[in-house]
Amino acid sequence: MINETMYGLGSRRSVIREIFEYGNRRRAEIGADKVFDFSLGNPSVPAPREVEEAILDLVKNSDPIALHGYTSAQGDAGVRRAIAADLNARYATNISPDSIYMTCGAAASLCIILKALNASSADEYITFTPFFPEYRVFVEAAGGRLVPVASDPADFQIDLEAFEKAITPNTKAVIVNSPNNPSGVVFTPEKLKAACALMEKKSKEYGHPIYLISDEPYRELVYDGKEVPFLVNYYDNTVICYSFSKSLSLPGERIGYIALSNKLEDERRVYAAVCGAGRALGYVCAPSMMQRVVVKCLGKTADTSVYKTNRDLLYNALTAYGYTCIYPDGAFYLFVKSPEADANAFCLKAREQELLLVPADDFGTPGFVRIAYCVSTEQIQNALPAFQKLMESYQ
Ligand code: PLP
Repeated sequence: MINETMYGLGSRRSVIREIFEYGNRRRAEIGADKVFDFSLGNPSVPAPREVEEAILDLVKNSDPIALHGYTSAQGDAGVRRAIAADLNARYATNISPDSIYMTCGAAASLCIILKALNASSADEYITFTPFFPEYRVFVEAAGGRLVPVASDPADFQIDLEAFEKAITPNTKAVIVNSPNNPSGVVFTPEKLKAACALMEKKSKEYGHPIYLISDEPYRELVYDGKEVPFLVNYYDNTVICYSFSKSLSLPGERIGYIALSNKLEDERRVYAAVCGAGRALGYVCAPSMMQRVVVKCLGKTADTSVYKTNRDLLYNALTAYGYTCIYPDGAFYLFVKSPEADANAFCLKAREQELLLVPADDFGTPGFVRIAYCVSTEQIQNALPAFQKLMESYQ
């Protein structure tokens, strides 16, 4: 006997992975330049120069035993001090280095905090549609239940009325992801403030904290000077799940952190539970050298200007062809309404034009597709006639 739930997760690829594998086969058949693959959120710009410099400097000038050795389970103390200082300087907060836990990216951060918080199979975790499909996997693995709440279909901002209705005495936490994968939407300060006020009211009413888990791999990926509020400043019971995967173009290096607000209720107990969850999951001592690399690069990002170029090119062209698109202020995804009700059928039709798009059913929004525009601008330019032809087939 094995764990059938795990067997199911491991033997069925995610839709995104399945499309990506199809793309690999197709590239081998007809040539890479003929396949317009918009499936994966893999950064297309290199890590900034500072990353390479930091790696070379560390390898040349540090004690190799310490550099490649274990750090404390929660991460190197100096690294955590530097990250806390950087956050506090940037956002005028008071986060303690002892409230930071270094992780293998946002995925690990989420799994750890969910395991740390989940007390019973009745615990509910609200998130807003569309949402990163792995939330369901992570929440259920921790023993809880994901409660997706439909966003306002006009702009994919939080629908406050629907949100209020979804909060119950079992609500343990709310997972917020802004800038959002897959919609590219950045939640407005007004909506977030109102959502936090609701959570505060309901926490009081039910007599226990409702935590806010802010999943922030795209925090720095915003365009046109849009503001991304730092939620620790909006809500006391906030947990930040951060990743350097996208901001520094380092997704394969697996590095990020959890940061607890200093105003979190029972903060010391929650942090101990985070350490315990890290231990129980085997997520101790995030990659040692990468911890040191990222602190040397705090405040730096990869050159993300190409994402803005791509966003503008794709959004303007697709809307001109007649597609309905959600205007993305951040991340590197364009969310498009399928011209037919079944987005899966639309994506299969797109394949005939060698366009690889992701149907958004697993994101909780059937009828939409995600286009990951973290690709070369040339790929987008070359793909535009295919997008146009595809739309013409519906007119
Ligand atoms: N959360 C969201 C919304 C994401 O889009 C991703 C990755 O694409 C993750 C979490 C996981 O990020 P990481 O690579 O840091 O584990």
